[in-house]
Amino acid sequence: MSDADSIPQPLAVLVTGGNRGIGLAIAQDLSAHGHDVIVTSRSGESPEGLRAVRCDVTDTESVDQAFTQAEALLGRPVEVLVANAGITKDTLLMRMSDEEFDSVLDTNLTGAFRCARRASKGMVRARKGRIILISSVVGLYGSPGQTNYASSKAALVGLARSITRELGSRNITANVVAPGYIETEMTSQLPEDRRKAYLGAIPAGRFASPEEVAGVVRFLAGPDAAYISGAVIPVDGGLGMGH
Ligand code: NDP
Repeated sequence: MSDADSIPQPLAVLVTGGNRGIGLAIAQDLSAHGHDVIVTSRSGESPEGLRAVRCDVTDTESVDQAFTQAEALLGRPVEVLVANAGITKDTLLMRMSDEEFDSVLDTNLTGAFRCARRASKGMVRARKGRIILISSVVGLYGSPGQTNYASSKAALVGLARSITRELGSRNITANVVAPGYIETEMTSQLPEDRRKAYLGAIPAGRFASPEEVAGVVRFLAGPDAAYISGAVIPVDGGLGMGH
């Protein structure tokens, strides 16, 4: 092995919804570890220290343009896609409108599909790639008031596994990361009684930091995860065990 082989090359990474929350933590972590990272944001504004391209994952043309711009900034095709952009529109099944169901599916599932499809073009040509889909513990566990969100997150497993079967022989992996409760703006707004109830159900007895999700994503993007594909990696303190 030459010296060059032993030094991991900087990866060309695109993180959707990397302007805030978990996506930002993932982007900052990968960037701090020397990788070339572009984030997408809907406003087009860059978070401090990172380069951003504008992208709405519900719009195929916007996804295509974002990849084209990211590839120009990176100087090569995207090697690692982190499909992180996601929304919730919670309400009980009986009250949920078609729009509430469809829009969550369109962002969380079809958005990830649009990005994976676009990313796969460069990855197939390069004969390498990592597709990492950010799901949620509720995708397999279920959650009242989240039939739309849980359906979208469960479907990411089928997406990753089908990509694995289609593109596995091209040195492309596709995996799902399923976070539990993470300390973000979303969880900080929970009423105290619900926060306590959630904490009581988590074997670890605490929420995770966004950085704990980022570390797992970095592992899946790196050389030690080359033979992991179609996997669902929980980062949930044991909440979803057995699901
Ligand atoms: P945030 O609400 O903090 O951030 C969501 C991100 O997605 C933002 O960057 C947002 O962009 C982006 N986004 C939303 N819709 C679109 C769209 N149509 N096109 C492009 N970008 C879009 O969420 P979190 O950081 O908490 O969550 C990130 C991911 O992790 C999500 O997929 C979520 O489902 C998942 N997750 C979160 C958990 C948690 O506890 N927080 C637990 C399990 C999973 P903008 O700033 O423009 O709105």
